[in-house]
Amino acid sequence: MVSSATVDLLKDQLPLEHESVELSEDVAYGLVLVDIINGFCTVGAGPLAPAEPNEQISEMINEAEKLARSFCEKGWPVMAFIDCHHPDVPEHPYPPHCLAGSQQSNLVPALRWLEEEPNVTIRRKDCYDGFIGSIQEDGTNLFVNWVKTNNVTSLLVAGVCTDICVLDFVCSTMSAKTRGFLSPLEDVVVVSNACATFDFPVEVARTNKHGLAHPQELMHHMGLYMAKERGAKIAYGVSVAGS
Ligand SMILES: [Zn+2]
Repeated sequence: MVSSATVDLLKDQLPLEHESVELSEDVAYGLVLVDIINGFCTVGAGPLAPAEPNEQISEMINEAEKLARSFCEKGWPVMAFIDCHHPDVPEHPYPPHCLAGSQQSNLVPALRWLEEEPNVTIRRKDCYDGFIGSIQEDGTNLFVNWVKTNNVTSLLVAGVCTDICVLDFVCSTMSAKTRGFLSPLEDVVVVSNACATFDFPVEVARTNKHGLAHPQELMHHMGLYMAKERGAKIAYGVSVAGS
């Protein structure tokens, strides 16, 4: 376990201010859900799923579900990325995971209903970064088109892993926005308690030759901090006007 003194030291040296966000009817929001799927979030569902119940992951699912319900009640656009791999194409440094057609590569039970919602776009992706994973065979980008079609000006981002797929997506999105590819998008907001990462303590990693240490609290904080370094806003929770 990482000592709380270590976590405190990191948060002291890399302080992260959270903004409060209240959703307004006057703003065109979009919600991106990153990889909230069995293979990463459901206990025992595969090599990259939590082996036992995990508080940060449970809270992430609850918060993401709340956000998704608010969006669907209002008919606002939601895009859900789902990690999905061909068995012959590995994704280093991780073992085979979320193979096409497997239960690992489906939304968690709490979000499965999204598949039936008309305002939800589901994109299966075979790489970390949902922005890159949105590039289609004809060269168009499904995420870019989704932003433009829905005139999204404020994008909320939730899911896993804070420091991997969420961060990669945010980094690409911020660069594409700066280059003018995502007009009219103005804000990208990472909802911190609707994000989570996995726990692989250094003590365990040392006993595993493929193991790359990944202490959960530290990496979650680093992921949020690095997203903020790219210009994303970080919010702890989102309140919905009138609810
Ligand atoms: Zn993957």
